[in-house]
Amino acid sequence: MEYEAVIGLETHVQLKTKSKMWCGCANAFGAAPNTNVCPVCLGLPGVLPVANEEALKLTVLTGLLLRCEVPASAKFDRKNYFYPDASKNYQITQYDRPSTRNGVLDFEFEGRVRQVRITRAHLEEDVGKNVHFDRTSGVDFNRAGVPLMEVVSEPDITSADMACAYLSALKDVLMYGGISSCDMEKGMVRCDVNVSVRPVGQAELGAKIEIKNMNSFSGVGRALEYEIPRQIEVVSKGGTLRQETRRWDDGAGVTESMRSKEDAHDYRYFPDPDLMPFEPTEEWMAGVRSRLVELPLARKQRFITAYQLPGPDAETFVNDRALGDYFETIAVKVAHPKAVANWVINNLRAKMSESGLDLGGLKFATGSLVELVELVECGKISSKIAQEVFAEMFMSGESPTSIVEGKGLMQVSDAGAIEKLCDEAIAANPRSFQDYRAGKGAALNFLKGQVMKLSRGKANPNLVGDILERKLKG
Ligand code: ADP
Ligand code: MG
Ligand code: ZN
Repeated sequence: MEYEAVIGLETHVQLKTKSKMWCGCANAFGAAPNTNVCPVCLGLPGVLPVANEEALKLTVLTGLLLRCEVPASAKFDRKNYFYPDASKNYQITQYDRPSTRNGVLDFEFEGRVRQVRITRAHLEEDVGKNVHFDRTSGVDFNRAGVPLMEVVSEPDITSADMACAYLSALKDVLMYGGISSCDMEKGMVRCDVNVSVRPVGQAELGAKIEIKNMNSFSGVGRALEYEIPRQIEVVSKGGTLRQETRRWDDGAGVTESMRSKEDAHDYRYFPDPDLMPFEPTEEWMAGVRSRLVELPLARKQRFITAYQLPGPDAETFVNDRALGDYFETIAVKVAHPKAVANWVINNLRAKMSESGLDLGGLKFATGSLVELVELVECGKISSKIAQEVFAEMFMSGESPTSIVEGKGLMQVSDAGAIEKLCDEAIAANPRSFQDYRAGKGAALNFLKGQVMKLSRGKANPNLVGDILERKLKG
């Protein structure tokens, strides 16, 4: 019997807000322990939460980017449990009426665009951090009350690699939307991995195993590479799997059981009496809609179709948005956008990293790059000379035309002049001439190089090739 994996991910993302979810404390990473705290986020009795509007906006914006519905009314609930890093003894979250639901994430995987349905993206709060010393433990509440969004996927993912592709696409969307910095090192994205297996063709889902609190995408991949075969082995030997929570031990490379369904918590959710239901007005929604951005996948597809770029070039401009925007301001003005892309990706990027300049500090105008491409495309300068001109214009900001004129670099397409150079090169290299006659085609390239040298790179290489060949054959 053949088995397949079924995977659904719950991804927690810290939102990019200035302040925390229910109080005015800074939402900042790395401060000294318990310095960004107040009675509200310390969970002292008698305090009242005030919802952070920007966090609500970012959650709804995420919903719109993921093509979710935004219900007319959402609410906040208390999820009750005791843990030292959650001093209120409950977490505020959205239980049965989340801010967004029923969306889709499109992403590329194995050369095709795939879709994973999004169950919901809802808003909750992060908890503090337990810190263990030699003999004692402490709690740092700086993180407590940081706005946390949970994006829950439907179980539409079928492999470890696809899970990683989904996560990385989700991260790109969140970064494009300005929703989260998604700094993995700072724990801004954490993920619960739900996975089951079933015989291929069976509609019913197998028992769900949840691997909690993964903080790297590669870790998610490794955990699934271990867990899927483990489950398949159990069921193919006639065993049964039971719903449970497991922990991934990255050092040992195994998952181990934490608790079974029987000891699952009953969180006794109930609506938070301190918080009003959230009912966005049309005007408020319009404000959020005005922050919609083009998604990375759409941008990639647009760069490919609008500018005839190969996939990897388009991807470069998706990953480096500023560079892509820069390219685009030029690409819309030229007949050969692909040539512009080559200059930007291969030459400009290298020169910028060499010199430490960024796009804002460039000395030449965008029009100069247009000019340079046109000089090459209409054969006025060779691509080799163009490199020289580019280096010069990058340094001085001078326009390509004036550099070419000033240095006399214009390509020579005068057949008579080139013919003379060809004669010179053949006369100086009789061996090559004989080699060619004896059938060694490579001699042509050598002689061509000699002619180019004699012309100091200025001869039109195609003409040189044609004329030389004629002479050698003649
Ligand atoms: P819970 O209430 O325990 O969090 P949910 O049904 O809300 O469980 O699902 C949580 C996550 O688990 C979702 O991402 C969902 O797609 C995924 N999931 C649910 N059932 C399965 C299953 N049988 N196998 C794999 N993933 C599942
Ligand atoms: Mg869960
Ligand atoms: Zn606070």
